[in-house]
Amino acid sequence: MKNKDIKNNWTIDALQEIYDLPFNDLLWKAQEIHRKHHDANKIQISTLMSIKTGGCPEDCKYCSQSIRYDTDINLEKTLPLVDIINQAQQAKKNGASRFCMGAAWRNLTQRNLEKVKEMVREVKALGLETCVTLGMLTDSQAKELKNVGLDYYNHNLDTSEEYYKEVVTTRTYQDRLDTLQHVRDAGVKVCSGGILGLGEENIDRIKLIQVLANLETQPESVPINRLVRVEGTPYYENNDVDEFDFIRVIALARIAMPKSYVRLSAGRDTMNDHMQSLCFLAGANSIFYGEELLTTKNSTIKHDQDLLRKLKIKTMSLDNSSNDSEDINIKESKLENINIAIKNI
Ligand code: SF4
Repeated sequence: MKNKDIKNNWTIDALQEIYDLPFNDLLWKAQEIHRKHHDANKIQISTLMSIKTGGCPEDCKYCSQSIRYDTDINLEKTLPLVDIINQAQQAKKNGASRFCMGAAWRNLTQRNLEKVKEMVREVKALGLETCVTLGMLTDSQAKELKNVGLDYYNHNLDTSEEYYKEVVTTRTYQDRLDTLQHVRDAGVKVCSGGILGLGEENIDRIKLIQVLANLETQPESVPINRLVRVEGTPYYENNDVDEFDFIRVIALARIAMPKSYVRLSAGRDTMNDHMQSLCFLAGANSIFYGEELLTTKNSTIKHDQDLLRKLKIKTMSLDNSSNDSEDINIKESKLENINIAIKNI
């Protein structure tokens, strides 16, 4: 995402100064930038499906899928291709433009790579954008995924480099950055963001935005999660993130990464309509959509439809134009069978 408006040398001081603006000034600045690069009244919708749930050897302290924590999730082996195709078809009918597939793996094995390649081919053939999140990738694996049509790879940095060591000990921040580089080098678009509520300070959030914004090419997609506190994980008792702090981070992401899609991701069901509306005003322009979750709940379909109607926000179709006929008239009845896993992703 190279553009003369894009700045890749943000200092902490500059970002801190923006973050500390009076709230109204911050949102005004974010809106100005948002309107310059995006349609202010459209959002992108992604659907996320867990293709392999639980049993992950990593120790991410927020995650219900780590084998190290005693959480109440149903372990599932890699789902058969037919199930994935069915759900991708359903997601498309329901208005999603991108279908994201997540697997609880530390890294991708050759055997699993072949399965995922097949999934990407089939989902792509349905006319959907494809995204996967599979753990760490080598450069050759990234290229193989690119060759079968993968559009996006999600790999979050989670938090600042300094605080990351408190959150995950089984891999390093540099491991994360290396995977992002392999993805970028292969020509796959990057989806990378973080989670607020891990016990980090505001400065860690600002540093996270700095690292993402200062990547040679900024991520096309930046998911900002609000921690979903899952019983059994070390962060179950964490305090909730202050709502205004969360909105400030959204605005900061928008200002520092003007062309990126900033996504409200996990934890959206804990945000009331007013908070979500302020997030949209601050520059969020993408959401995960779907109400049936494996480990946590998301906003209900009905609720999302009502909110989008009230705000007169339309959804984007694949060509980035308004999808007037389907935008907020998504058929609720058709959504019942979707099995979507919105996790901290
Ligand atoms: S966040 Fe991903 S890598 Fe970490 S434990 Fe969960 S599934 Fe594994």
